[in-house]
Amino acid sequence: MAKSKSLVIIIHEEKCTGCRICQLICSSIYKQRFCPAEAFIQINDAYELTPKITFLDDCILCGQCAKHCLYGALELKEVEE
Ligand code: SF4
Ligand code: SF4
Repeated sequence: MAKSKSLVIIIHEEKCTGCRICQLICSSIYKQRFCPAEAFIQINDAYELTPKITFLDDCILCGQCAKHCLYGALELKEVEE
């Protein structure tokens, strides 16, 4: 029997530049707006050397933010359940 797979996102905060592309992607998909504050991923201390990355409870782990992170801060992985 084939095992089902699910996605996980591994966070590498040290690679985050605070560009907020992830938030723009998420809010555009789920809120139909380019509004970082409404995204299900939040980047805090974006102008610090190492921003803080948090996924909110409403995140459905679609992986779109990770696919669009240009800096490797969000690593998308498939894991067997
Ligand atoms: S996680 Fe990636 S896309 Fe999001 S702010 Fe950091 S570098 Fe930018
Ligand atoms: S995984 Fe999907 S729902 Fe979750 S923060 Fe990223 S884009 Fe938004």
